[in-house]
Amino acid sequence: MLPRSKPGLHGVHQHKSAIPSPKRDEAAPRKWRRNKLAIAQSKHLRQSKHLCELCGLRLAEELHHIVPLNVAMHLAADPSNHQAVCKECHAQAHKH
Ligand SMILES: [Zn+2]
Ligand SMILES: [Zn+2]
Repeated sequence: MLPRSKPGLHGVHQHKSAIPSPKRDEAAPRKWRRNKLAIAQSKHLRQSKHLCELCGLRLAEELHHIVPLNVAMHLAADPSNHQAVCKECHAQAHKH
């Protein structure tokens, strides 16, 4: 005598393959975003004629984000959020 404790077992074993996999979509834009960021950085440093935007004396060697990226990651590649600064001014900007 077999006990039939689980009726309709075959009925609930249907796997639907229509679920989109988010993993594949996430990998691509991350690469793309890094490239865009690099382009925006070099462009901005070129436009500033390599002079620090804060002191105007030293060479701008680094790119500072006016709005920190941990606050607004979407502004990473936004030129209006970029500031070409020298190493010293950049260090000062991050002291606060
Ligand atoms: Zn400076
Ligand atoms: Zn910075």
